[in-house]
Amino acid sequence: MAAKTLYISGIVQGVGFRPFVYRLAHQYGLKGDVANTSAGVRIRLEGTADAVTALSRDITASPPPLAVITEIRAVDTPPRGFMDFAIVPSIHRTRVHAQILIPPDTAVCDDCLAEMFDPGNRRYRYPFINCTQCGPRYTIIQDIPYDRAKTTMAAFAMCPECRAEYSDPANRRFHAEATACPACGPRVSLTDSSGRPAADDPIAAAAALLKAGGILAVKGIGGFHLAADAENADAVLQLRRRKGRQEKPFALMARDLIAAGRLVRIRPEEAATLLSPQRPIVLLEKRGDGSPAAPGVAPGNCCFGVMLPYAPLHHLLFAVGGIAFTALVMTSGNIGDAPMAIDTAAARQSLSGIADAFLIHDRDICQRSDDAIVRHIGGRRRFIRRSRGYAPTPIFLHRPLPPILACGAELKNAVCLTQKRCAYLSPHIGDVKNLETYRFLNTALRHLERILDIAPEIVAHDAHPDYLSTRYARMRSSGIKVPVQHHHAHIAAAMAENRLEGPVIGLAFDGTGHGTDGAVWGGEVLKVDYRSFERAAHLAYTPMPGGDAAVREPWRMALAYLHGAFGKALRELDLPMLRHLDGNRVHTVLAMVEGGFQAPLTSSLGRLFDGIAALLDIRYDVTFEGQAAMALEMSADPSETGCYACDRPAENSREIPLLPIIEGVVRDRLSGLPVPVISQKFHNTLIRLFTALCTDIRRDAGLDRVVMSGGAFQNVILLDGLTRALNGEGFTVFNHIRVPTHDGGIALGQAMVAAATAG
Ligand code: ZN
Ligand code: ZN
Ligand code: FE
Repeated sequence: MAAKTLYISGIVQGVGFRPFVYRLAHQYGLKGDVANTSAGVRIRLEGTADAVTALSRDITASPPPLAVITEIRAVDTPPRGFMDFAIVPSIHRTRVHAQILIPPDTAVCDDCLAEMFDPGNRRYRYPFINCTQCGPRYTIIQDIPYDRAKTTMAAFAMCPECRAEYSDPANRRFHAEATACPACGPRVSLTDSSGRPAADDPIAAAAALLKAGGILAVKGIGGFHLAADAENADAVLQLRRRKGRQEKPFALMARDLIAAGRLVRIRPEEAATLLSPQRPIVLLEKRGDGSPAAPGVAPGNCCFGVMLPYAPLHHLLFAVGGIAFTALVMTSGNIGDAPMAIDTAAARQSLSGIADAFLIHDRDICQRSDDAIVRHIGGRRRFIRRSRGYAPTPIFLHRPLPPILACGAELKNAVCLTQKRCAYLSPHIGDVKNLETYRFLNTALRHLERILDIAPEIVAHDAHPDYLSTRYARMRSSGIKVPVQHHHAHIAAAMAENRLEGPVIGLAFDGTGHGTDGAVWGGEVLKVDYRSFERAAHLAYTPMPGGDAAVREPWRMALAYLHGAFGKALRELDLPMLRHLDGNRVHTVLAMVEGGFQAPLTSSLGRLFDGIAALLDIRYDVTFEGQAAMALEMSADPSETGCYACDRPAENSREIPLLPIIEGVVRDRLSGLPVPVISQKFHNTLIRLFTALCTDIRRDAGLDRVVMSGGAFQNVILLDGLTRALNGEGFTVFNHIRVPTHDGGIALGQAMVAAATAG
């Protein structure tokens, strides 16, 4: 006979763990009990040694699908003479440190779906059906431990039938904290913008409104969406007009995998991601002419962002009323750069000029969580936005960290909390450039600190003095404040998720980051460990005429690069861009470049992409960040193998000369070489140039691992091409898999650097 107590940590609450253990214990004839604790799950077992071993093995080998076990600790204990095996109430002990992991929100499971579409089931067509294997979690949890009373479901008292299921260890809704039914749970309604109910059958009426070309605000899991029929060109344009969103692609929700397959090409691994319980938006290559989606959904883009229905309500929207949509536009319910609405009253106010009607419900969303966005590149799934379904599942680290808060940068921000070997990245916060987003950063962080029970001792932030995230860090009353250089943080983030220790070669390519010399960095070849970094080389400094205006208007950058290469002689060039641009504006911008006023210096690769895109007349200005660079990438002809001359920095300099590249592009443009060829040659040049620079560093410093990070690595040609070229030279190459390569992943690196430097 054996008596053992197992302590399990990880995501083990709210995922059906206790009933799973209960069934195993009965199967193996074990006595004892199982309970949630403030640190995970405790299992006390008495029985034969073989049975105890078998149960432990099963827990490790096949835990419930949503569980993530980080640690199992087994302790021999004196036998207590248990008579049976039972699930006992939660044990709350104060200040045992909580390695409690909060489960993310999960798409409705197949069992629940089958019930929802079974006319004989008491939850037939009930839009809030869920169980221990599915449903909202992070977005409804107000505090820990995860019990109904500490969620936004506390407002709904369970009916006797739900209560019976909840209390029956054999039932699949045993301790399903968010369980509900039509008799006792939340309800859906359709209203106009003043809140007046608009229909008896809200979902059918909402579907009919969409079919008629209307725009619908839909309250979902992590916030409001704005929906329109994706096949209705007028509806899509109307939505763009009302939302004031010119060209940035809209996400689509396809009815099912087959419907998605009519819009985009889907490889098997992409289908698996589409169908995964996290249900992210997946960027997929558009099908040619046959695409039924309106052209206004993603103009000028080779991809659609597609997801499948994940909330039961979404499934019903596609199924009821006999209306068959192929896909709906499902874009965030917000205005401009403000965070998506989560509160019904606020949504009514902010979206009333956009939505014709509101499909809402009375289950509160406690925390906002935008749809996640991923793309499969080079056989791996990459995050473009790590949010609903993934956050706040931790990134597991190779070494323990003290409690740290890292505030991120500015664009596409996410913040990070660390504790021991876990780094918890928040859901997507957005561009922290206005009061609303700043407030969201504040509330998301306070909430994460509470539910993860972390009191940060160190507060890491970007070295940029004016970012709102930096101001937030400075405002915190406690914690050692540690500024971290932007590109150091980028590389450290990629090192951390790949569990590397330095030193490594870091290629940090992006649009903007505050440099130690006050310039705007972004084309950086670095030698990096967590403690420090050394700048080995960078793109030659070029003025950004008008500062931020040069980001919105890439033609300004083009002029700056032309001026760098040709000086005043640039005016004699017979380039289409120069013919097209207004002479006065060209004059003003060149005056800024020559005089060096309102023209901060930059080594940014993002700006170089912008400038080349303008030189090639692909885009003179942009309506969203990265638009010109993306268009340049999409224009490239992959069959072209040519390349421009590339020079290394001169002796005693770290500046990579741009002259040969700009000259080459201009020469080809003037000679009438097709744009796709020039674009590919430009990409090839960068690949060859940076591979050569890495080889130089290996020769001098013996480093043979290259870590790549920064927003520019969303460019597939660059990511794939550099990886292949560096591998070919014998380098081991690392990039991002677990967090975004852009600034949405940077907080992780800030935390790593702060841990190494603050101690
Ligand atoms: Zn379920
Ligand atoms: Zn009920
Ligand atoms: Fe960056």
